[in-house]
Amino acid sequence: MGAINIENLTKRFGETTAVDDLSLDIADSEFLVLVGPSGCGKSTTLRCLAGLETPTAGDIYIAGDHMNYRVPQNRDIAMVFQDYALYPHMTVRANMRFGLEEEEGYTKAEREARVEEIAETLGISELLDRKPDELSGGQQQRVALGRAIVRDPEVFLMDEPLSNLDAKLRAEMRTELQQLQHRFDVTTVYVTHNQTEAMTMSDRVAVMNDGRLQQVGPPLELYHAPENRFVAGFIGEPMMNFVEGRNEGDRFVGTYVEYPFDATIRDAVDGADDVVLGVRPEDVAVDTADGVDESDLGDYEFVMHVSVIEPHGDQNVVHLNHPGDTSESDLLHALTGGTDIFEQGSEVVVTIDPSHVHVFDGESGDALH
Ligand code: ATP
Repeated sequence: MGAINIENLTKRFGETTAVDDLSLDIADSEFLVLVGPSGCGKSTTLRCLAGLETPTAGDIYIAGDHMNYRVPQNRDIAMVFQDYALYPHMTVRANMRFGLEEEEGYTKAEREARVEEIAETLGISELLDRKPDELSGGQQQRVALGRAIVRDPEVFLMDEPLSNLDAKLRAEMRTELQQLQHRFDVTTVYVTHNQTEAMTMSDRVAVMNDGRLQQVGPPLELYHAPENRFVAGFIGEPMMNFVEGRNEGDRFVGTYVEYPFDATIRDAVDGADDVVLGVRPEDVAVDTADGVDESDLGDYEFVMHVSVIEPHGDQNVVHLNHPGDTSESDLLHALTGGTDIFEQGSEVVVTIDPSHVHVFDGESGDALH
């Protein structure tokens, strides 16, 4: 079946190391999303899987077979790219049939039947006799998928297949692609720089940066237990808050904040000097400071002031500063309920529960807690 094993894959272009010693096992039928910022090596990894690039070092196996020297046509994969690359002079039917052209063992009638069956599944039967320029972006994308699916490949490789669609259609196609992948049960490697696609579509997410694999796991595992600062910052929107400072044993000391460490954090950060506190915006609780006496505040409560509030309807992003902080940048941002209205410039009480605090090593960026 369509399991993929990538062992110590390295790909260099001259001085540039696009992929650096990447090892990753992808299970049969799994939907794996490869995500990371522009230039991190995602597309190059996918192109090595496809046979469009030759690895500088390392090995690639699909369904247990060694792939390094196999031409793309003999890899039993189907690819869908950002530009759908449909043939403009051919009808949808001919474009889809083209996917079968190099497949052996199909009679002409069987090819036609297969095209019609897949068109039906994708809801594009009525488009079969149109040309690509008579289709919307979403319809073209479906045809491109159809052309890939007709071949019944072991593996789908997709490189930003939704990025040419508008936001609404992209959201619809996300769901549709997921459903299709489950229906066809095909191992899928999907490349995107969009962390929402990574979080919502995948069985597992692999995060890359600078050619290196940072972490791989189910989306919520990456969200709740990031192994380093890069993954913590890349996954999650709005982004995790980071505050840099020093480990003073029993507490964190930053420029404007101190935060006491409980026994669990103290043990976890023991030995580190420079540390970075991380807290998700939804874990920063904000309440009005009206009538609150600062001397009554608990260990994990702080008075801050609201610099900007961004209403999103169901939620607000509240940007917070320490009262003494004259720098331009905000110290924290919090995600609050849409009905929690705080005045810009007002004082609020911020509570950060230690069970929600991540701590990263200031130098390596590795998660300590
Ligand atoms: P994007 O999201 O922008 O497509 P990516 O994560 O897919 O980025 P890659 O396209 O894999 O990144 O590129 C990784 C690195 O390798 C980049 O520094 C890129 O400039 C370099 N690179 C990719 N292809 C080539 C090539 N054919 N020749 C030279 N350098 C290349």
